[in-house]
Amino acid sequence: MFGRIFWRDGRLSIMPIRSDTVSEQRRSEIMRAVKSQGNKDTELALARFFRQHQIAGWRRAYSLCGKPDFVFPKLRVVIFVDGCFWHGCPRCYRRPASNTKYWDSKVSKNRQRDRKVRVTLRRCGWRVLRIWEHELARKNQSRLLRRLQVALL
Ligand SMILES: [Zn+2]
Repeated sequence: MFGRIFWRDGRLSIMPIRSDTVSEQRRSEIMRAVKSQGNKDTELALARFFRQHQIAGWRRAYSLCGKPDFVFPKLRVVIFVDGCFWHGCPRCYRRPASNTKYWDSKVSKNRQRDRKVRVTLRRCGWRVLRIWEHELARKNQSRLLRRLQVALL
């Protein structure tokens, strides 16, 4: 039993379907597409937020370990903006009801990788900021702005 995965309202949704209708390979393809679209949406939302609040000095696609989503080279600050589902947000992550083993290992691998990248960047003198997708929700934006202002002083 697996689900049809789709992105709705900034959240990953899984609709159960019979497993034989989606091949293993097709499933991976769908997931990659959903994940990269989700990442892109949250990145663009944060870029918009920066512009709205006159936060300048950031670059995207800056070549650095772990490929941070945003880099402030002069301040030596990097920002990762992470999907609550894929990176196991402590506040929002819900284990999917089916294929739990698969999802558990996927999310825990992502978290391990995140940790490793964070440590490496810190050792090289970067400050690392992680912004969760849920922090971009309208009701959380004033808190996010304060957080960014402090970090980017
Ligand atoms: Zn979250």
